[in-house]
Amino acid sequence: MVQPDDWFDLDDGSAPTCAVEGGVEAAVPVEGVRGKLTAKAPLAKLVWFKTGGAADWLFEPVDLDDLKAFMERLDGNLPVMALGLGSNMIIRDGGVPGVVVRLGKPFAGVSVTGETTLQCGGGASGILVASTARDAGIAGLEFLRGIPGTVGGFVRMNGGAYGREVADILVDCDVILPDGEMVTLPASDLQYSYRHSALLEGAVVVSARFEGTPGDPEAIGAEMDRIAEARENSQPLRTKTGGSTFKNPEGGKAWQLVDEAGCRGLKLGGAQVSEKHTNFLINTGDATSADIEGLGELVRDKVKAHSGVALEWEIQRVGRP
Ligand SMILES: Cc1cc2nc3c(=O)[nH]c(=O)nc-3n(C[C@H](O)[C@H](O)[C@H](O)COP(=O)(O)OP(=O)(O)OC[C@H]3O[C@@H](n4cnc5c(N)ncnc54)[C@H](O)[C@@H]3O)c2cc1C
Repeated sequence: MVQPDDWFDLDDGSAPTCAVEGGVEAAVPVEGVRGKLTAKAPLAKLVWFKTGGAADWLFEPVDLDDLKAFMERLDGNLPVMALGLGSNMIIRDGGVPGVVVRLGKPFAGVSVTGETTLQCGGGASGILVASTARDAGIAGLEFLRGIPGTVGGFVRMNGGAYGREVADILVDCDVILPDGEMVTLPASDLQYSYRHSALLEGAVVVSARFEGTPGDPEAIGAEMDRIAEARENSQPLRTKTGGSTFKNPEGGKAWQLVDEAGCRGLKLGGAQVSEKHTNFLINTGDATSADIEGLGELVRDKVKAHSGVALEWEIQRVGRP
């Protein structure tokens, strides 16, 4: 069956068409569901770019059992895609086939479980994880302060900054597989590389355990402040954006290649290459997802022509064109 992540691998820029049996009409298991299940749910308001179409179905479980039961009954019959804060995602204008699972408050907790360990819900924010670690005197998680996503997104994307990444701190994670089975995966099973994991497509990370080192809360707090300030100065934080657009190529910086190819401020429809950080694309107000993705492809072409480097997308592009 087609799974959403299969499309992530298509980085020739051509938006794939994907046939999903039944689409919105396909049966989803409503019996016994306690969470919120919405048909044709607009996703634009749930992602940073504020663009894109609707999910055939959006499921917001009330707790772990609710999610497990729902996935069990779904039994892999429709594609499933987890959505965090949508801070690394272009939802295409034709929407997302199948079911989008969004972990809300019930999955957003963080607790200290040992001298240097934390238990985090899949929907917990980077800021909450970093500040809970700080208060408990756990160092090494400060970098999460600057990444505006959820634990589930970090675990899948191997989120990182300032020389640290999730691969350095993850002990293991609990994952619901597309057939509803829950498994605990040690970090080694995720085969981490730069902004990539081997997490199964359609799997939902519901919790993760992180480990740091003993540290001084004041020093940890100071490092978090330094990170927040550095971000403020270098990234277009208060815009509709999707984070780093392209992966840094081996031995190079994507932003530099984009800049040298003359793309700073380049526009396509309502989308623009940020003037502040050239590896960020922004929605200036009325962009469509096609504008944003098209601009990304234009930038890739220009960089290829200028430096010979084929930039790879870091932003996940999902759904129907
Ligand atoms: C201003 C800005 C700055 C950023 N800076 C950085 C940075 O420094 N470093 C960095 O690495 N990233 C950065 N990002 C990108 C983004 O924050 C990270 O990729 C983050 O990990 C995405 O988390 P999310 O929860 O929003 O995931 P989403 O964007 O919602 O989804 C991203 C991917 O993760 C999957 N996913 C989400 N939740 C789950 C889950 N529970 N289970 C399984 N899969 C899941 C989605 O299906 C998708 O494949 C930045 C983004 C912005 C907007």
